[in-house]
Amino acid sequence: LSNISSLNHRLNALISVRSPESVLTRVSDVVASSEPKTGIAGKLFAFKDNFCTVDQPTTCASQMLQGYVSPFEATVITRLHNHAHAIDVGRANMDEFAMGTDNIFTVYGPTLNPLYSSPHSAGGSSGGSAVAVAAGMCHFALGSDTGGSVRLPAAYCGVVGFKPSYGLVSRHGVIAFAQSLDTVGIFAKDVPTVREVLSVISAHDPLDPTSISTTLRQQLKDATARRRESGNGKYRIGIPLEFIVDSCSPEITNAWSAVLKKLQAQGHELYSVSLPTIKSALPTYYIISPSEAASNLSRYDGVRYGYRAIVDREANGVLYGVTRSEGFGSEVRRRILLGNYNLSSGAFHNHYLQAQKVRRKMQLDFDRVFVVDHPLEEPIDRDDDRPNVDFLVTPCSTGTAPLLSDVLSQKSPLDAYINDVLTVPASLAGIPAISVPWHTDHGDVVGIQVMGQYGDDDRVLDFSEIIM
Ligand code: GLN
Repeated sequence: LSNISSLNHRLNALISVRSPESVLTRVSDVVASSEPKTGIAGKLFAFKDNFCTVDQPTTCASQMLQGYVSPFEATVITRLHNHAHAIDVGRANMDEFAMGTDNIFTVYGPTLNPLYSSPHSAGGSSGGSAVAVAAGMCHFALGSDTGGSVRLPAAYCGVVGFKPSYGLVSRHGVIAFAQSLDTVGIFAKDVPTVREVLSVISAHDPLDPTSISTTLRQQLKDATARRRESGNGKYRIGIPLEFIVDSCSPEITNAWSAVLKKLQAQGHELYSVSLPTIKSALPTYYIISPSEAASNLSRYDGVRYGYRAIVDREANGVLYGVTRSEGFGSEVRRRILLGNYNLSSGAFHNHYLQAQKVRRKMQLDFDRVFVVDHPLEEPIDRDDDRPNVDFLVTPCSTGTAPLLSDVLSQKSPLDAYINDVLTVPASLAGIPAISVPWHTDHGDVVGIQVMGQYGDDDRVLDFSEIIM
């Protein structure tokens, strides 16, 4: 709590903060309670401003939702409070509607990275959550990861950031950006804390139609137990060639090879693997996600809820257009235009449908590479000549945290989109992926990404602990 009061005004990680008295009272209540306690009982957490709660405004860092109080609470927040007795310290800054990579598109002003004394990007879009953990304002934090928004800020801020398999954690009450990609992610300083939080928030939720069933959860648990039992602690690691990209800085490439060397020295086997469709991951993501966003954001019409412009019909036209021009920031408007264009009759076949086909091929590319079959798909014919692996290990970002002044002066939005090249493949495939911090000999911290088969979340966490 003292870190919040001393650091938050500079870092701008939390946009609303609970009073220290109220937090301390709740801590005492938890300590005094005789109910059985989970590992995170009494621990403090922050959550991104796109998780709905009933007692404070949920704004997605947008003018559009200033003052909006939801009539219901996100399932994960209810589970953390009521089932686990964790205590929230406040809401975290983010890029507006979760669109961004540097936490600069926000009505609350940018979040700063606590690892640097000069202003550096915290990463986005869940930058506030990553910084709250990195700066010791809470024990863990929730963010949302649609194309890398938990993993990238985790990499920039030197903390662990985990994106679970799609459907494992309920999205009910998390304001949608792109619903076929959105996942709830967890930030913490270590993997055991991530595991504790996951065990609380991973549960079937009838309120989320994409939440996986209790039966499948049990099957996944049994499969994990079997694999843990039959394994000898040595894993088969894939190095996907398509992740070797020109835009990677030397610090990142060197850190990647250092990690691989360490793993090899520990007796794990390394294989070079290829997933050819990864080359199209970025354009595929930037067609599918804005298309879904354009549809989701059409609900902000100035009538039902949210911001409403004052409109003089004679002078400035109709309510819908003016409300949306004033209520949404520039990046959100850009995505809405892009999405509506992709969905328009002229572009639909060439853009949206093609992107869906590439996405499906990419999922099959991932399936072919993993030793483990996808639990929701028919077992596939494997090409025996190609190595199968337990996990893929790659960098999470192409560079370390950039200077804030550099990202604020970027000429083209594409400069930021390119940073997502290493994180969007796992999002399109719906598989678990984590960024773990790796400290280099030169004093840099680099995020190393581990990806595993769909549903193999627990073993991805087991393996990440080896890297840290
Ligand atoms: N940077 C990506 C984007 O702007 C990812 C966002 C996210 O995961 N929410 O779309």
